[in-house]
Amino acid sequence: MAFGECNCGAVTFEIDAELSDVFVCHCSICRRSTGGNGIAVIVIDNNTFRWLSGEDQIATWKKPGADWQTWFCRICGSSLPGLNDASRMFVPAGLISQGGESLTVKHHIWVDSKAVWDEIGNSGQQHPEAFK
Ligand SMILES: [Zn+2]
Ligand SMILES: [Zn+2]
Repeated sequence: MAFGECNCGAVTFEIDAELSDVFVCHCSICRRSTGGNGIAVIVIDNNTFRWLSGEDQIATWKKPGADWQTWFCRICGSSLPGLNDASRMFVPAGLISQGGESLTVKHHIWVDSKAVWDEIGNSGQQHPEAFK
């Protein structure tokens, strides 16, 4: 069981699963969205996820012409969990405040478009583009 929350605490959620793998996306869209080197996410089954509070504070933005969407807290702007596909969600790894003890970086994606200043180091497998 894991627990996560946004910076202002309005949006909280729990995940009824053992969390282990972190995926880091280094693409330019994720970089602009976070202002950092990309975004680190955990992929989970939809049925293990439950909102505890603040679902009415979730805002979304879809990038025109791209298959990319972001979910964020309309009060504090923190990135939030969002839909990955019909059966899975992705959860920004930085939101997890309890139950993340076993998390390790397993995959880096869109490494070919990473920022010049982004040094990946030796954790996880590197993929030039999307995870296959
Ligand atoms: Zn918030
Ligand atoms: Zn990305």
